[in-house]
Amino acid sequence: MMEAQYRAPGSVDEAVALMAGAGGKGRVLAGGTDLLVQMRAGMVAPGLIVDVKRIAEMTAISQIAGAWRVGAAVTGAEIHDHAGLKKAWPGVVEAINLIGSKQVQGRASAGGNLCNASPAADSVPALVAAGAIATVQGPNGRREVPVEQIPAGPGKTSLKPGEIVVSFTLPARPAGSGDAYLRLIPRTEMDIAVVGCGVNLTMKDGTCTAARVALGAVAPTVLLVEGAAKALVGSKLDDKAIEAAAAACRAACKPIDDKRGTIVYRTKIAGVLLKRAVAIAAERARSN
Ligand SMILES: Cc1cc2nc3c(=O)[nH]c(=O)nc-3n(C[C@H](O)[C@H](O)[C@H](O)COP(=O)(O)OP(=O)(O)OC[C@H]3O[C@@H](n4cnc5c(N)ncnc54)[C@H](O)[C@@H]3O)c2cc1C
Repeated sequence: MMEAQYRAPGSVDEAVALMAGAGGKGRVLAGGTDLLVQMRAGMVAPGLIVDVKRIAEMTAISQIAGAWRVGAAVTGAEIHDHAGLKKAWPGVVEAINLIGSKQVQGRASAGGNLCNASPAADSVPALVAAGAIATVQGPNGRREVPVEQIPAGPGKTSLKPGEIVVSFTLPARPAGSGDAYLRLIPRTEMDIAVVGCGVNLTMKDGTCTAARVALGAVAPTVLLVEGAAKALVGSKLDDKAIEAAAAACRAACKPIDDKRGTIVYRTKIAGVLLKRAVAIAAERARSN
């Protein structure tokens, strides 16, 4: 097996230049909780590993005009300890903190979770529901990409060769907003989602004025379910509106049958999780 070279640059520009020089054989290393497992299993054999954990911009959390910018390589543990982010986006924080165990949380990042491109990645439905924008840098400069446009299928992203996700921007939110993420797993922890559901709502005078709903593990990529959001917006989140949103979620599902769940089960659970996540997000919105 070819030995991989290891570099730990101090800037995004340097990391991008290293990736460009690796002729398609470079891999970004953030926490390594997916990459190292895949290397050990012989699934990937990079010629160059570019460790991004020493890049300040990729490992910092900051607030800019009410929006939150979270470096793509910030660990789950650091996100867990960030009071401001937790208050603004509890659903996003909970989703990231569901990844693995305490040990995994000490390394794993949302950037790695997104770029590993598992349809069941826990942070992705919450980021998509939040309307998060990824800042991506590659050989042709920077671009801003809605998170839902990055996964392209199991293990595949829409990133161009040499591109790195630098950070995520969670938009400033109006008063009366709340988000939530729920997943179903066959065990109590350390398992892959059978279904994941992220919901982000804004409420004004008892009426839902904005909504985003995303589902994980029910299709080759995380789904933004616009029909579910449409059913919620303009309603008082009454049973009829919530049932219509759940029906839109069930209709959007194109899941696989596997040992964790059948197509019928996953489809039914998508509606159940939607209802529960809406209840939590609405409660949070009312108290904000
Ligand atoms: C025991 C265990 C339990 C787990 N449980 C869960 C779970 O419950 N839920 C879940 O969703 N996942 C789980 N995972 C999977 C994994 O921990 C997560 O996907 C994690 O978020 C990956 O982040 P990382 O920083 O370790 O990524 P890495 O392993 O460093 O990278 C993953 C992939 O993304 C690429 N990459 C990383 N960062 C970037 C970037 N900024 N730009 C471009 N490409 C990048 C890498 O090249 C690699 O291909 C688990 C893994 C283990 C080992």
